[in-house]
Amino acid sequence: MLKKLLFALLFVNITYPTMQKTALVCGAGGFIGGHLVKRLKEEGYWVRGVDIKACEFCTTAADDFMIGDLRDPQVCKKVCYLPNNQSFDEMYQLAADMGGMGYISQHDAAIMHNSALININMIEQARYTGIGKVFYSSSACIYPEHNQLDPNNPNCVENSAYPAAPDTEYGWEKLFSERLYKSYARDYGMDIRIARFHNIFGPEGTWCGGREKAPAALSRKVAEAPNGGTIEIWGKGDQTRSFLYIDECIEGIRRLMNSDVTTVLNIGSDEMITINDLAKMVIEISGKNLSIKNVPGPEGVRGRNSDNNLIKQKLNWAPSQALRIGMNKTFAWVKNQVETSSAPALAYTH
Ligand code: NAD
Repeated sequence: MLKKLLFALLFVNITYPTMQKTALVCGAGGFIGGHLVKRLKEEGYWVRGVDIKACEFCTTAADDFMIGDLRDPQVCKKVCYLPNNQSFDEMYQLAADMGGMGYISQHDAAIMHNSALININMIEQARYTGIGKVFYSSSACIYPEHNQLDPNNPNCVENSAYPAAPDTEYGWEKLFSERLYKSYARDYGMDIRIARFHNIFGPEGTWCGGREKAPAALSRKVAEAPNGGTIEIWGKGDQTRSFLYIDECIEGIRRLMNSDVTTVLNIGSDEMITINDLAKMVIEISGKNLSIKNVPGPEGVRGRNSDNNLIKQKLNWAPSQALRIGMNKTFAWVKNQVETSSAPALAYTH
């Protein structure tokens, strides 16, 4: 009863969207969700963000931001209704228990439990409330490990996902959830878009604490190191990846949502680089003189790169910005965080 009252009070001050398109962004307190909310607002949407935590690095641009745990079906039910009891035009499901290799290599059960519950709850509520169109954020981590053993020649073409053999439980959960969303499209006629993101990076993302990914972690290490010092890199450093700047990721999401393409697409860069070369790029950007020391640590698959043939064919568009441009901006932002924040000592490093 008290919960119902609080919920009713919460809505008293919310301006009711009438003519605007409406979007629900799950995971809006996170990196990609925070940027997506800004973009949707620029496009004129009325946006509700929901997350278990507030945005860490900026003030949300959402019209309404609800703090809630999406593992709880009751919370999912509440967030799916607009104040006027109508359903949202669009839902973007980005909430997940997630992190870089240091995190996902050590939290299998939590990742599978938490992210699967979020997805099961949210798609069911989206069906129940009749949300018009749904976007689900999958990952390049679904691709089979055996296709990513050669660092110079990984295969991440969309139709190589099966027979499935991801190297992490994080990847298996993403694959399960892809199938979950596709089942809802098939059985209930829901309008669903799915993208597999490849290492998205940029300002206002996690940069310390254990969940950060390579571009932010390397930027932090370089920013913290004294000139003439050494930074540690997990693995031999010859493992390859590609990294996509956040603005192009958001552009890809919006283009996919606005299209009638229902096949799963990669959203990633195809500029492949070794982790040691990425570290060298960051060192060069910093202007410091630093050495690299490769140390044992979780490094994931040997090679991964976005195959962009299908997205070019389907959307007549693919990311094209040079990695260096995004890394310049990301390093500047992380350096500023290092210099101005009192973040706790780091539990994991990359
Ligand atoms: P992020 O961790 O910054 O954002 C995820 C958000 O989900 C966080 O703010 C977190 O608090 C929220 N969340 C977690 N559990 C929740 C719960 N129980 N209830 C409500 N909210 C909860 O990660 P991101 O980089 O913004 O990633 C967004 C999505 O894209 C995720 O689904 C992720 O798996 C996927 N993805 C990201 C990348 C990448 O490189 N960033 C790559 C592939 C896939």
